[in-house]
Amino acid sequence: MDLHLELLEVQRRIQSRVPLPLLAITGESIQRHQSAATPLLRFEDIPLNLSDLRLMVRQIADVLRRYGALEEVDYQKVQALGRDMKLLTVTGQWFRSVAERQVASIGVPVTNSFAELDGSEVLDQVLTLSMRPFLSRCAEVLQQRPELSIWTHSHCALCGGQPDLSVITPSAERHLICGRCELRWKWETLACPYCRNSDRAKITSFATPDGKYRVYACDACRRYLKAYDGRRASRPVMPMVDAVATLPLDAAAIQRGYSS
Ligand SMILES: [Zn+2]
Ligand SMILES: [Zn+2]
Repeated sequence: MDLHLELLEVQRRIQSRVPLPLLAITGESIQRHQSAATPLLRFEDIPLNLSDLRLMVRQIADVLRRYGALEEVDYQKVQALGRDMKLLTVTGQWFRSVAERQVASIGVPVTNSFAELDGSEVLDQVLTLSMRPFLSRCAEVLQQRPELSIWTHSHCALCGGQPDLSVITPSAERHLICGRCELRWKWETLACPYCRNSDRAKITSFATPDGKYRVYACDACRRYLKAYDGRRASRPVMPMVDAVATLPLDAAAIQRGYSS
């Protein structure tokens, strides 16, 4: 838990310095991307400051190592990348690889250049954490557009990322929250966002004793999604904070054989 709080603190410090970007998002462009199932944000449009990104990468790696979440050899690799001129290129590949995977899943074959990189799983984790302050500022822009309500896909309209948390609204709608940029969008109330299984008999749902959080676990693909139940809560969802508060739920889901 301390690990997550420290990561949150590092992200907060940088996020306060990231300007709100000017993104050319219109109702028409949202409609176009909805039809093609492609995310709206281009890498070039992210308000990325290279020295802040470097600082993020190195600080995130420090925190992860301090808590034993990063092995020494990976730590050295990440630190080297944090000093390297290639950082921007690698981050661009990481960002685009997710968008390309979405396009691939709807039938257009693509080569995933990021997956071929050394230690890409570790890098994926570090870059996801390091890029959040920048991506979440972009999400703030799209979040304000009423046309976001036409988005029907289970991946993020802004960055193409997958949801890793959801929130149940007081009117019992379910909104998915992107694991990369924290954009929120309305989606089906029960179906699995990872494989689209909507067979009620194949969705296992359980809640914390206080009813504040739920898990929807899919018996078709064995993945699960957590939810913050806004019907029983006194404050709005706070993705990073709620991710920490629900660590025991993750343990319970994993114990039952599901993965995140
Ligand atoms: Zn996103
Ligand atoms: Zn599923």
